[in-house]
Amino acid sequence: MPQNPVIVRFRSDLRIADNPALFEAAKTGAPVLPLYIVDTEAEKPLGAASRWWLHHSLTRLTEDLREIGLSLRIVKGDPEITLPSIAQDIGAKAVYWNRRYDGYGVAKDTAIKTLLEDNDIDAHSFKGNLLREPWEVKTGSGGWYKVFTPYWRACLADTPPAAPLPAPKDPMACHADINGLSIDDLKLLPTEPDWSGGLSERFTPGSAAAHKKLAAFIDEAVQDYPEDRDRPAKHGTSRLSPHLAFGEISPRQIWDACKNSGKDCAKFLAEIGWREFSYVLLFYNPKLGSENFKPAFDGFEWREDAAGLKAWQFGNTGYPMVDAGMRELYATGWQHNRVRMITASFLIKHLLINWTQGEQWFWDTLVDADPASNAAGWQWVAGSGADASPYFRIFNPFTQGEKFDPEGAYISRWIPELSKLPKKYIHRPWEAPQNVLDYAGVTLGKTYPKPIVDHKQARERALAAYKDSRSGD
Ligand code: FAD
Repeated sequence: MPQNPVIVRFRSDLRIADNPALFEAAKTGAPVLPLYIVDTEAEKPLGAASRWWLHHSLTRLTEDLREIGLSLRIVKGDPEITLPSIAQDIGAKAVYWNRRYDGYGVAKDTAIKTLLEDNDIDAHSFKGNLLREPWEVKTGSGGWYKVFTPYWRACLADTPPAAPLPAPKDPMACHADINGLSIDDLKLLPTEPDWSGGLSERFTPGSAAAHKKLAAFIDEAVQDYPEDRDRPAKHGTSRLSPHLAFGEISPRQIWDACKNSGKDCAKFLAEIGWREFSYVLLFYNPKLGSENFKPAFDGFEWREDAAGLKAWQFGNTGYPMVDAGMRELYATGWQHNRVRMITASFLIKHLLINWTQGEQWFWDTLVDADPASNAAGWQWVAGSGADASPYFRIFNPFTQGEKFDPEGAYISRWIPELSKLPKKYIHRPWEAPQNVLDYAGVTLGKTYPKPIVDHKQARERALAAYKDSRSGD
């Protein structure tokens, strides 16, 4: 007597090992149908760089599933309609998924669960994408943590995460035909023009590449991480963020590899903690990506400045550290964390442009665009977030450059037209004497822009705007 199949819905957990939904579905012994639904109703559709990543990640997942005898099916539509309808068509007895924590996702999953259960189809959800779910870590008074340090201390004091799960062994395959799409049908890759060369040069999507990268990072770089993580010219961080955003590797696998390495990975794991904390913030504040966490910022008078926004987006502000970062982002889909703080601060404070516009640009251009970390990162820099940097702490883009890129190597890499400037001037070319500029082949306003705002004036303007916004407090 053939058994009714079970469906495993993949989302941002595109891996076969340490995937609790897949593991538990396979354990039932029923035929398994792995499913990916492109959500046409998504509140925040994937940005262009993430779409590129998704194409390759789905390709790798298809191969990985094939190795264990399963075949990924892909469909497009409103999951609230598509999922129950497929489940009914194939006579599925249950649907399995790993939970998500954004407002839209939670609401959608709750609705789907009810619809499935109304049709006598079980819905099973799991913790697959975090070490601890937002509601698992509580303050002494039973609330959620709004400050990172005590939050992470509480996480570390708790029972350590369990060992990661293996990939299921010889799961039974479901051969039902659901009239699915191919990955190419999704048209996720850019054409006319194809701008993805810089992304594929830097990144290889997929679980295998993620694990290789983690092993190399632990082997070669984790011991120097506390110092090197702030040096954008070095390869001092793991660059695992897009793999984590798509769930090609789980935080539990990272935790486990670090703990078994015998090395001191505390600082690195604390950054994984920031990712977890960002999910706490998002879970309890579903509008984190679009509304100020601190309502005191609602009265802030942001400027509309289309030209300034464009100069920032494409790395033409005349401030080398900002421009190098924005060019790195546009070319590779990734930007170094220290530089994210500098570029975000410049947009918000030097240009007085609403942080939500920066959040959207990052969302579109980052391969690691993540609804929690991106929103929390922008609100942190703006000062409007929980446990945020105070608004009046305004990053100076050239002294930050001198401190964290003292040789100007990062600038030379992304703004080659400045590479012949001596390091004394590479972060502030407008101060270089004419003969130095001539020798380096730099003509300000021609080969490289003049600063679009004066640092001192912009700083004063930002502080005045901040003061005005608080005058009604
Ligand atoms: P590593 O230093 O190797 O850290 C390991 C992992 O820890 C990262 O892969 C990431 O998952 C997590 N992590 C590290 N720092 C942070 C942090 N500050 N907040 C949350 N998680 C962190 N990160 C994203 O993954 N997606 C985003 O969309 C995103 N947007 C950001 C926007 C702004 C304005 C800022 C200031 C930060 C943003 N970050 C975002 C956080 C951070 O910049 C990146 O996670 C980090 O640069 C990724 O590089 P890495 O993998 O080499 O990090």
